[in-house]
Amino acid sequence: MGREIWVVAEYEGEELTDLTRELLGRVQAARVRGQRVCAVLLGSRLEVLVEQLSSYGAQRVYACAAGELEHYEGNVYASALADMITRYKPLLVICGMTANGRDLAGRLSVRLKSPFLPGCLSLKPVAENCFEVKRLLLNGMAVRTELAGGEKTTVLAFSAGARGLAGTGFIRPAEVVTVAPDLPAETGVRHLGIRSSGFREVDLAEADVLVSGGNGLGNKDLFGKLWELGELLGAPVGGSRVAVDKGWLPRERMVGVSGKSFSGRLCLAFGISGAIQHTMGIKDCGTIVAVNRDPQAPIFKTADLAVVGDVQQVLPLLVERLKELGLRGSGVEP
Ligand SMILES: Cc1cc2nc3c(=O)[nH]c(=O)nc-3n(C[C@H](O)[C@H](O)[C@H](O)COP(=O)(O)OP(=O)(O)OC[C@H]3O[C@@H](n4cnc5c(N)ncnc54)[C@H](O)[C@@H]3O)c2cc1C
Repeated sequence: MGREIWVVAEYEGEELTDLTRELLGRVQAARVRGQRVCAVLLGSRLEVLVEQLSSYGAQRVYACAAGELEHYEGNVYASALADMITRYKPLLVICGMTANGRDLAGRLSVRLKSPFLPGCLSLKPVAENCFEVKRLLLNGMAVRTELAGGEKTTVLAFSAGARGLAGTGFIRPAEVVTVAPDLPAETGVRHLGIRSSGFREVDLAEADVLVSGGNGLGNKDLFGKLWELGELLGAPVGGSRVAVDKGWLPRERMVGVSGKSFSGRLCLAFGISGAIQHTMGIKDCGTIVAVNRDPQAPIFKTADLAVVGDVQQVLPLLVERLKELGLRGSGVEP
């Protein structure tokens, strides 16, 4: 008997996020005959998004619209979605490992008392309504293989990690199931507005270009130069765990398994050794340029361009050169 696999769609404005597209691609690739790829949309204005979900392969879209769902609020979203899961009993519910997705997935599993697998990396069918899932454990130090599926819905949260996996061009429009949401009477939350962040505050996971520093910078002052470079390139600053532990950067700027993953176009890494826990966070980045004075530094195995040199010299020189070129936060040309 076939069952449904649900991807909980995330979007910004009128655009699905890359991760949502990727997850639809993953499910397309993993589903077996008879299983249906479905997307769940919660929000207030959903029409445009339904079209996009169709073109990325959703065969059915559960659309749940209400003013209360306009902005993510864990309790409200979990209430609406848990009710839908109880009604339709999908085989799997897949969220992204984003701040909202992780929050929602955890809440769902508690409400539904369902199995919950966070940190998933892959999905492979092994038997009828049963999938093998590989997922990260212990801050990325270990990978465990588990089985997902069965009578009870399993909730999974997937990390980004397969850019370009989603194929568009599905021409068959998805069937739309409109669902009236089951919402709590009182949310206790008042939405005041959304403040857009400048590139300095932008979430590393969302950035296009990243400048990143490690222990090799030697002191917080040189991080000032890194911020200057970020300003010139329109890029946020991130760094290694050591840089964070030494107080040179706030914790939310840590790159790696215990921090953020960056999958943008370009990462400039200064004085970072390239420990696996760090490079896991940049493995899906387009181009990595690394500066390190040790020609044997492990980061050079991951980097596309290796600069063997002292960051104390290279970083200020690079900043000066870019200033001469008149670059001012205009970003890096594609
Ligand atoms: C469970 C666990 C989870 C972890 N999670 C993370 C994580 O999410 N993110 C993370 O980053 N780390 C993480 N770590 C830590 C990780 O193992 C490394 O210790 C850390 O990434 C090293 O940071 P670093 O490269 O800045 O420092 P170091 O290892 O000290 O390397 C500094 C590098 O700078 C170079 N250098 C020194 N001086 C100069 C100079 N003047 N010019 C040029 N190069 C120079 C050196 O050659 C060296 O390669 C984790 C560890 C554990 C055990």
